[in-house]
Amino acid sequence: MKIFVVNAGSSSMKYQLIDMETEGVLAKGLCERIGVTGCITHKAADGRVYSADTAMPTHAEAFEAVVYAMTQSDAKVIDSLDEITAIGHRIVQGGDTYSESVKIDEDVMKVVDELSELAPLHNPANLLGIKACYKLFGDKTPQVAVFDTSFHQTMEATQYVYPIPYEYYDKYKIRRYGAHGTSHRYVCDELFNITGMKKEGSKVITCHLGNGCSITAIKDGKCFDTSMGFTPLDGFMMGTRSGAMDPSVLTYIANKDGLSADDISNILNKKSGVLGVSGVSNDNRDVAAAAEAGNERAKLATDMQRYQIIKFIGSYIAALGGIDAIVFTGGIGENDKDLRAAVMENLKFLGIECDAENNAKRGENIRVSTADSKVGVYVIPTNEELVIARDTLSLIK
Ligand code: AMP
Repeated sequence: MKIFVVNAGSSSMKYQLIDMETEGVLAKGLCERIGVTGCITHKAADGRVYSADTAMPTHAEAFEAVVYAMTQSDAKVIDSLDEITAIGHRIVQGGDTYSESVKIDEDVMKVVDELSELAPLHNPANLLGIKACYKLFGDKTPQVAVFDTSFHQTMEATQYVYPIPYEYYDKYKIRRYGAHGTSHRYVCDELFNITGMKKEGSKVITCHLGNGCSITAIKDGKCFDTSMGFTPLDGFMMGTRSGAMDPSVLTYIANKDGLSADDISNILNKKSGVLGVSGVSNDNRDVAAAAEAGNERAKLATDMQRYQIIKFIGSYIAALGGIDAIVFTGGIGENDKDLRAAVMENLKFLGIECDAENNAKRGENIRVSTADSKVGVYVIPTNEELVIARDTLSLIK
């Protein structure tokens, strides 16, 4: 049984074809510049690659290019679309409507559309992906929506209401929703699988650190609190995003420089974080290299990022009333051993000791705190596509 996993953005679209017998990836690819020009890069599991510049005025043409790549190109992996049993879509915002994945129908599409107000960059694009699949596959192939927000729906009002006039929650549903939920759910489930830890009574912190970063406090296997909020701008500094800060700074800068709300949003989302402070790059590798070469602002950005991560973990340990395990994932969480070592060094008072040999390894589920550390610290590579495929399979069965 093969599941097609789709992650549609406004001008790009990532996909994977997963064989559910083995949970292996048969092919994966990326369409870019949709609506502008269009190109596709498609990779089969055996290393064959197909890439082409193909006109993609809309997502429909992007999907046609994917079908060609999968069924007819030099890197084809199936003979026809009939071999695909179902399609799973990553949907960014499910609001407070969806605490679990759902089979897509007209009603679901309507809600995803309505929730575009909360995720204007993502939900409309996700919906385009669904519509393009209907056009291509018809009604026979079931489609499933897996929401980035649904794992966080177990938070209580104490964690998700913002301290602004309550009417804004009533009127506009302004509250903490969180993001990266599929990743936090996956790595937490993997943690339980590899350690044999029981969900009940467990206190876990999962750190998804990539270009976007979020940290989640998980109690009894359920989200208790998470750093991203109404949007993925909340929390702590990321590649280009500021994370939380004194809101007065925003009105002050707006008044000083005559900036609009959209200008401010652009600065906070695209020009801040590691890029804004370092002035070098949003990529930790570039910033680490610049810091090594003596760039003071790059060093400051690195130090700030580590400090904010430590502070968040510390606050969640207090919120959970203890800690059993901490998990790192995402591009930075999985690869930046120096950042992990710095965090563990600061958490020594909890009985955490870094296992330098394991901490230097890559690409596998691994414990990076020593075996006799009181708290297990782990690296678990995330796999959101697999969660989407598994949810899709279980909903169509
Ligand atoms: P993601 O958004 O999860 O793909 O993560 C992207 C980020 O991971 C990049 O911006 C890099 O900062 C970071 N990253 C990837 N590889 C490494 C590495 N070897 N060392 C440090 N950071 C890395």
